[in-house]
Amino acid sequence: MTSEMHPSRWGDPTMAGELPESTRDLVEIALGIQETPAVGEVSLPPSRLQPGLLDELAQLLGAEHVLTDDEQRRLRTRGKSTPDLLKARAGDLSDAPDAVVRPGSHADVENLISFAVRHHVALVPFGGGTCVTGGLAARREGYAGLLSVDLVRLKALRDVDRRSMTAVLEPGLRGPEAEALLAEHGLVLGHYPQSFEYASIGGFAATRSSGQASAGYGRFDAMVVGLTVATPQGTLDLGSSPANAAGPDLRQLVLGSEGTFGIITAVRVRVKELPAEKVYEAWQFGSFAKGADAMRHLAQNNLMPTVLRLSDEAETALNLASQSDVGGEANSGCLMIVGHEGPADASATGSVVGRRALVADALTRLGGVSLGEERGTAWAEGRFHAPYLRDSLLDVGVLAETLETATFWADRERVYTAVRDALTHELGEQTIVLCHISHVYETGCSLYFTVATGQDEDPLGRWAAAKAAASQAMIDAGATITHHHAVGTDHLPWFAQEIGPVGVSILRSVKDGLDPTGVLNPGVMIP
Ligand SMILES: Cc1cc2nc3c(=O)[nH]c(=O)nc-3n(C[C@H](O)[C@H](O)[C@H](O)COP(=O)(O)OP(=O)(O)OC[C@H]3O[C@@H](n4cnc5c(N)ncnc54)[C@H](O)[C@@H]3O)c2cc1C
Repeated sequence: MTSEMHPSRWGDPTMAGELPESTRDLVEIALGIQETPAVGEVSLPPSRLQPGLLDELAQLLGAEHVLTDDEQRRLRTRGKSTPDLLKARAGDLSDAPDAVVRPGSHADVENLISFAVRHHVALVPFGGGTCVTGGLAARREGYAGLLSVDLVRLKALRDVDRRSMTAVLEPGLRGPEAEALLAEHGLVLGHYPQSFEYASIGGFAATRSSGQASAGYGRFDAMVVGLTVATPQGTLDLGSSPANAAGPDLRQLVLGSEGTFGIITAVRVRVKELPAEKVYEAWQFGSFAKGADAMRHLAQNNLMPTVLRLSDEAETALNLASQSDVGGEANSGCLMIVGHEGPADASATGSVVGRRALVADALTRLGGVSLGEERGTAWAEGRFHAPYLRDSLLDVGVLAETLETATFWADRERVYTAVRDALTHELGEQTIVLCHISHVYETGCSLYFTVATGQDEDPLGRWAAAKAAASQAMIDAGATITHHHAVGTDHLPWFAQEIGPVGVSILRSVKDGLDPTGVLNPGVMIP
């Protein structure tokens, strides 16, 4: 894995590949294939920052940490949603920052913010650059320039408190880097979003991310016990105790604030013992509704495994269609992945063996059929590969994108149907809509949709219309506009509907209080 992603694809540039033959055949039958020509090298708009400002930045951070070359600016342009990739592929680099700056300490970040306020320069914090909701595409009109604040130099594990089971991580650590540092102490964070390999600790906190093992380890916001944040009004240090009743929890104001209230420079997280054993297995349910009921039962009876996800009928059929026993008995219905991580010793509290037996017993009673470990292990091994497939699909003219929401158990079926209908109504019948339940709570679950359709003449316009229809369907059905992808710029109109005018006015007041000149990520998250 290289540290820099491809500018117009997901992930490691050396992993880019053609669509596998079996998938290509399926895609050709369902959607048609239309090779898209690659756009040649496109030059960036020139940096708008005055030379005097660049000199001042060089004095603040050191000249080697103020970068204006095309390559760096290109790599810090937007995130990795399908529209972002389509724009990059089409050579649209209009959102490129004027410079990339790399602060090396909290004090550097504070100085950078003072500089931005003094000269009215916009700052866009950059962690891993995996955002899928336009959170890195800040408004630039009215500013003397726009800087991408790359947190790549803030990569330390600052402190480990084994007795309290907490650790202090710097924001620029990517998922695998943070886990490797913690593993040296026999500890684990357990946060594995699909973007794990590139996304950062600061990004996880700023977007309230959820991982594939959040059934067991919890969402990222639930792992955070403390935060240090540099704001235009000074430093905010939060989290002096495991819990308190000292007014509203200000940590929650920073979590999910997407760089609009301040720049996170340290995150104190609760950690767990490194699991000695990991087992992933597959289960089959007769229908999505039956599988969802089984999940609900686990969640409401304190039987949560570490990983729990359920594909609907369409996703089950498509995912398994390329495997050898296609058409077999085990390919009908819906596939559930259940993973257990924990102590190997059967007598230990929460042992994998004990937990697994309890969950298996419950799932069997609820109509599940065990398919064994092979498919579960295959899921675990391939779980970070799907984004590469999206690039291969874009190469052959297929528009592939995901969207997600969450709702209460009582409304799950209604929300599922409403979003599916909105997507197929907007995109036409020659569209594949897949769904899985990606995260489960006592009271409800999240629904994660994958959509594939032809790009046609105007893929960006086509997707914008479909996304708008699906987003409105979520809000109309009483669900949230986002369970874990955050607001960014893409979700603003529906976020405003979700929280209502009072909610919007609270966010605007906080913004005015902390960042009165509006230099932090303008246009992002706040409607
Ligand atoms: C293929 C793919 C799969 C994904 N899978 C998941 C998933 O399973 N679960 C999930 O939750 N999300 C997922 N995402 C979305 C994305 O990875 C998450 O939102 C992630 O938390 C972003 O982290 P990042 O470090 O890349 O942040 P960035 O993309 O760099 O930034 C995201 C936002 O946070 C702000 N920000 C970043 N760092 C800081 C900081 N230190 N202080 C203040 N603001 C900051 C940025 O300005 C921006 O607005 C996926 C994205 C892709 C492309």
